[in-house]
Amino acid sequence: MAFIDPYGRTIDYVRLSLTDRCNLRCFYCLPKGTRGFAPSDTRLTFDEIERVIRAFAVLGVHRVRLTGGEPLVRKGVAQLVARLHQIPGVDDMSMSTNALLLEPHAEALFAAGVGRLNVSLDSINVERFARITNGGNLDHVLKGLFRARQEGFDPIKINMLVMKGINDDEVVPMARFCIENGFTLRYIETMPMGAGGMDAVSRYLPLDVVEEALKAEFNLIDDISSGGGPARYKRIAGSETKIGFITPLSRHFCASCNRVRLGADGTLHLCLGNSHSVGLREPLRQGIDDEELVALIRKAIALKPWQHNFNQPKTGVNRSMAATGG
Ligand code: SAM
Repeated sequence: MAFIDPYGRTIDYVRLSLTDRCNLRCFYCLPKGTRGFAPSDTRLTFDEIERVIRAFAVLGVHRVRLTGGEPLVRKGVAQLVARLHQIPGVDDMSMSTNALLLEPHAEALFAAGVGRLNVSLDSINVERFARITNGGNLDHVLKGLFRARQEGFDPIKINMLVMKGINDDEVVPMARFCIENGFTLRYIETMPMGAGGMDAVSRYLPLDVVEEALKAEFNLIDDISSGGGPARYKRIAGSETKIGFITPLSRHFCASCNRVRLGADGTLHLCLGNSHSVGLREPLRQGIDDEELVALIRKAIALKPWQHNFNQPKTGVNRSMAATGG
């Protein structure tokens, strides 16, 4: 069954936030001192999550990404993956993680059905990584990455938020790191989201600047083989390494949006950069049946806006990426 929004876009992808909590405190996302995390009884249980994903699968969704917050701080993630992986129709399970806890989880996650990984990594300099993340241990991240590669996750994509004066001098070193280690690399523009993101907007760097810096070092070839997501890809000549540019601000890709986000509290967010949403937790807890749940989600999709609101002056989204399942 095709699941199509009012603008004719097919929605086949759900990003599922397992928690709004995180074991890092990146200054642009959940800065130190962040309060207001959702109480744990407002978090959807695994049973509730499974019901919602089954309903999405009935509607034609076949890709599910576990994210957060940090998905690996939620207990029992691999068991949840195994449950979601056997839902008829779900054929692609992936995860976005900061990889701090990846080393001990990699084997179980892969066995349970996560095939692809995105790892957020803004610096490969030990001190700087610790500064950006407020105490994160780069060594644990690297061990997690290498363990995941050994396990067989493919592809492993590094997501690097590029910020002026913070890590823009690491654009080329990060590319070399990915060439050497067989990772795909995606550069991302800073979005005005949540308290930390609003501050970080002064660090915004359009990615055409990054592309120019890369061209001075590498021969970049257009790569049309990689699709299905927001990145525009190039390949570095002489290597298999793909380099993606995710440009929500300088060149947005809303026309090809194929996704919705389920917050850890059961809020269905129809757009990352807008507040259109529908709460699924209360209906679930009040005994909605499976058919009604499918109907509710189908109705919700009618609210999906055409595009994000990030470029409107003084707007932005007063919700952190972590609460949204970014
Ligand atoms: N903990 C997981 C991780 O690290 O990948 C998943 C959640 S984290 C919120 C997902 C991504 O959102 C990270 O790559 C982070 O860099 C990015 N992010 C957070 N706030 C952002 C902002 N204001 N603009 C752009 N990206 C942001």
